[in-house]
Amino acid sequence: MAGDALDALYQETILDHYQHPRNHARLLDPTVATEGHNPLCGDQLALQLKLAGGHIAKVGLQGKGCAISQASASMMSEAIQDQTPEEAERLAGAFRQFMTSEERPDEDLGTLAVLEGVRQFPTRIKCATLGWMTLQEALKEYRAGQREGKLVVKE
Ligand code: ZN
Repeated sequence: MAGDALDALYQETILDHYQHPRNHARLLDPTVATEGHNPLCGDQLALQLKLAGGHIAKVGLQGKGCAISQASASMMSEAIQDQTPEEAERLAGAFRQFMTSEERPDEDLGTLAVLEGVRQFPTRIKCATLGWMTLQEALKEYRAGQREGKLVVKE
């Protein structure tokens, strides 16, 4: 595919996720819930995860802000569906490496790779990684809750 056509496809995917964010409904009984914001751009996110059977069974994501932040978070909410917390953590690390490092991650990022163009705009990288940082915060809370025996997760 020619460069321009590929760019158009990427933009279309990002716009689609921005205009139709996935997993938008707020979870009323989340296992963990976190919020994230990017003061540089004004992006805000609220994330809820429902863990069941050792997997991320449900994701809730609400937010406002620029197209990059909201589209990236929406793609994340799809990508982590049914993953174990460990898999989601690995994907978060791989995506952040993909956005910030010259070294390519081993992980296959699938659709998330459409955000590659954002790398050219260093001020927007925080927009693209906000959802993932919010996710990592939620996973940290989940692990801490498990350690302390506070979270009851149905198996
Ligand atoms: Zn932004």
